Amino acid sequence: MSINDRLKKIQKKLKSKTVLVAVSKTRKVSEILEVYNCGHRVFGENKVQELVQKNQELPNDIKWHMIGHLQSNKVKYIAPFIDLIHSVDSLKLLSEINKRAIQNNRIIDCLLQVHIAKEDNKFGFKISQITDVIYKTQQLKGINIKGLMGMATFTNNRERIIYEFSQLNSIFQKIKTSQINVLSIGMSSDYLIAIENGSNMVRIGSAIFGIRRTS
Ligand SMILES: *Cc1c(COP(=O)(O)O)cnc(C)c1O
Repeated sequence: MSINDRLKKIQKKLKSKTVLVAVSKTRKVSEILEVYNCGHRVFGENKVQELVQKNQELPNDIKWHMIGHLQSNKVKYIAPFIDLIHSVDSLKLLSEINKRAIQNNRIIDCLLQVHIAKEDNKFGFKISQITDVIYKTQQLKGINIKGLMGMATFTNNRERIIYEFSQLNSIFQKIKTSQINVLSIGMSSDYLIAIENGSNMVRIGSAIFGIRRTS
């Protein structure tokens, strides 16, 4: 199946308002251009250096999303161009993004990453912290909190994934406003479960580009 066919197949399963982030980490510029040439414009990367380099090499109308763990000292490299940061996981990081946004005369859209998985190696705020973080962020003029992001436990246990996504969806429904309206859940293996549980932004890599050999 061609990349175009895979993209179309996924698009068909999404609701019309669901945003598809094509996760292009580890993919070559030529592979990304194949997806770009199908008309797709939203791409996600998880490493700052790779993101900065691809932003330089690829067309200007791409909307780049940062989906991986972000260290405060690297925010400055992506602040001039990043469209959405999914992986905001600390107040320290929020304050750095705010500072760099203001330096660049921008307001940077952010999602708060929420830790919903069983695994400790995943990042994110606890569900119980979210309302407080949103409150504290209101005074940061360079930040626009757009919603929440989460990753389910890496498991084949469908019930477990449903449980984790629905936990996140229920806090999302509580904080949702006309401004805070993005729920980023769902990857290649679980995006159908995610859209059943309130997702309106999915981050899909291997189902578009094929299997990945490195992380
Ligand atoms: C790699 C990655 C994805 C996409 O994973 P696939 O299984 O290739 O769809 C989604 N979200 C994050 C945070 C990732 O790091």
